[in-house]
Amino acid sequence: MIAQRNSRLIAAAAVMLLCACAPKDGRTPSAAAPPSHPLITLDSHDDIPLDFATPSVDPATANLQVNLDKMKAGGLNAGFFIVYVGQTARTDENYAKAQSEAETKFAAIHRMADELYPNRIEIAYRADDVVRIAGAGKLVAAIGIENGFVLGKNLEKLDRYYELGARYVTLAHNGNNDLAGSAQPRPELGDPADATLGVTPLGAEAIARMNRLGIMVDISHGSKQTALDAMRLSAAPVIASHSGIAGVSAHARNLDDETLRALRDNGGVVQVVAFDAYLKHQADEQIAALRALRERVGLTAGGPDGLPPDRRADYDRGLREIQAEWPPATVKDFVDHIDYAVKLIGVDHVGISSDFGGGGGVTGWNDATETGNVTAELRARGYSDENIGKIWSGNLLRVWRAVETTAAQLKAATH
Ligand SMILES: [Zn+2]
Repeated sequence: MIAQRNSRLIAAAAVMLLCACAPKDGRTPSAAAPPSHPLITLDSHDDIPLDFATPSVDPATANLQVNLDKMKAGGLNAGFFIVYVGQTARTDENYAKAQSEAETKFAAIHRMADELYPNRIEIAYRADDVVRIAGAGKLVAAIGIENGFVLGKNLEKLDRYYELGARYVTLAHNGNNDLAGSAQPRPELGDPADATLGVTPLGAEAIARMNRLGIMVDISHGSKQTALDAMRLSAAPVIASHSGIAGVSAHARNLDDETLRALRDNGGVVQVVAFDAYLKHQADEQIAALRALRERVGLTAGGPDGLPPDRRADYDRGLREIQAEWPPATVKDFVDHIDYAVKLIGVDHVGISSDFGGGGGVTGWNDATETGNVTAELRARGYSDENIGKIWSGNLLRVWRAVETTAAQLKAATH
């Protein structure tokens, strides 16, 4: 609490400084900006249910891992709210359904920020907006798209989604799509079993268009080849919006050392994810028990936040039983992944994500109210305030600004 109160005081002081020096047109503040900013905590991956910001799911109070009350209570300043669509067979009908679900989620995020709670949360369209909004004492919503499947084969959709606020696109999810290969292909959808597909020619065009628009390219969920291709193809640094570290725990979703070094050389950032299955090796019996539980409650993808109350209670009960037998990962396990990545590629290329609402959460950081535990663990391991600031938001904002600069340069070059 004391830390929170202090950071609020520092934030208030910084607002005065920022108001004195930040240009109003949203450009990067000049070199005269103060060298150290108050801590901004930014979680780069928070999923929302399809009925978010409707009478049944109030963004301030609903039983979600992230809601406005919990963000405020836990000192989580900013979150990327995610327009996620699951991968299905690539048919015109399914493209249309994915696009309709994406529109529903965009509309929900805008309803939350623009209509329901404009005094509490505001959408950031530029990296500097995050600093400005947080400095004014409000919560920040940024928007990311998870799964390039929402484009189908129509890259003009990128322009539409940019207008709606999307500032990163995860190229693929579970299962290959028209843009890229997944780290976890889906043979039942016709994918080859091995995760060798990289970025497709259409995916390369999509990356070029994202570079021109100012949308960050996200390699999380992509195959290793997708990650390496994306870094080679993108004119701007890329992000891994929510990934674990294979050097600590081998999992198809985690990034190996070669990919992490490429990410460093690319100027990008890995937002280490607090997702139990990626952080800590799971026994085969544990995986089977979790799968059986998901099937029992009808959970096909993502986390339980979207379940109706009766099935949610059933899920929570089943999960408690499984966790009694196999304790889930903790904040210490999570920060072990951060430590490893920092030692391998440096503190300028590592960030934080929860995947709340999408299956994320560990003991000690299981919803936004517990955000301070992550900061405390970093501090306990000797990270300086400056480096904690980089990890919590500075690095991601640096990449976001670089993506904005590249877009401006590409636009200028074509005019
Ligand atoms: Zn995900």
